[in-house]
Amino acid sequence: MTLIYRESQSLSWQQQLQQAFTCRTTLLAAVDVADNRFNDEAINFPLLVPQAYANRIRKGDPKDPLLAQILTVGDELIEHPDYSSDPLAEAEFTVAPGIIHKYRSRILLVLSGKCAVNCRYCFRRHFPYEDNRLSTAQWQSSLSYLSDHPEVNEVILSGGDPLMLNDKSLQSLIRAIEAYPQIKRLRIHTRLPLVIPARVTNELCQLLQNTRLNAQLVWHINHPNEIDEEVAEAALKLHRSGVRQFNQSVLLAGVNNCSTTLAVLSEKLDDLNIQPYYLHLLDRVQGAAHFQLSADDINRIYQQLCALLPGTLTPKLSREEAGGSAKTVFGNGL
Ligand SMILES: *Cc1c(COP(=O)(O)O)cnc(C)c1O
Ligand code: SF4
Repeated sequence: MTLIYRESQSLSWQQQLQQAFTCRTTLLAAVDVADNRFNDEAINFPLLVPQAYANRIRKGDPKDPLLAQILTVGDELIEHPDYSSDPLAEAEFTVAPGIIHKYRSRILLVLSGKCAVNCRYCFRRHFPYEDNRLSTAQWQSSLSYLSDHPEVNEVILSGGDPLMLNDKSLQSLIRAIEAYPQIKRLRIHTRLPLVIPARVTNELCQLLQNTRLNAQLVWHINHPNEIDEEVAEAALKLHRSGVRQFNQSVLLAGVNNCSTTLAVLSEKLDDLNIQPYYLHLLDRVQGAAHFQLSADDINRIYQQLCALLPGTLTPKLSREEAGGSAKTVFGNGL
């Protein structure tokens, strides 16, 4: 692949996906970082990053916080005894194909096995997506689980990345969910609008504006450098369509382990009407241990962050526990 596709804005999001970087050497050449000749073939979670995201990586900086999120490195191959392939024991909570019912009032719908970017810290990097990918007909049948579960009033679209579905498929899915009268909220957890802002199409906005469900979108932004003008525009477009927006970040060594950086991120999110929501501790997934911070560092960073921000802009420090019925939230540190 060569670098002939600078004009990401004029390409559709699907075209941008097709042209994403999948080769480490090509990516490193594009961002002017010397290749240390690491052969990433042994890593079963391949490199994947679209140009629109790569454009925000600082040229010539091997320690760039965006590059660190997406570049395959040798540390991923080190096995750690405390890390597992399914740290949240999600397999246990799969109640129907593609449906995870772990939190009482909400179900997660795992719609697509794919993402627009492969985040190196992802807790679903070993997820058996092939067993969980749903065809349109299967949604209908899996969703009938809701008939027997009146306690569920929110559907969370998850993945992979749920916005890998095209707008037409999303529309039929949303119509199917609307048919269950107890469902009030539709929440989309996605990294796609960040990675490829062109994903926020007019059709998507109309869809979210016109549903009777209270539509919410949770961004996964970890560093302020990830927010450029295209991202800001996408957030504004969603805001104008009446979509409530939140953000969750993962606290990651070598990416955002700095209170000032996190404070700048919260301020930027606020400018875009995105509510800072969670600051997640890393899930202990095999291959991601090099992103881990010590408890002391976590406490120091979080306490500094609390001192820098108003409470309204301070994300909740939280950890996902296997089998927990809600996240564990730490008020003022661990
Ligand atoms: C935490 C989390 C949820 C549930 O969020 P709540 O706001 O705690 O209900 C859903 N999806 C993902 C990916 C999460 O991390
Ligand atoms: S977008 Fe989300 S699910 Fe996909 S690789 Fe990144 S963290 Fe994992």
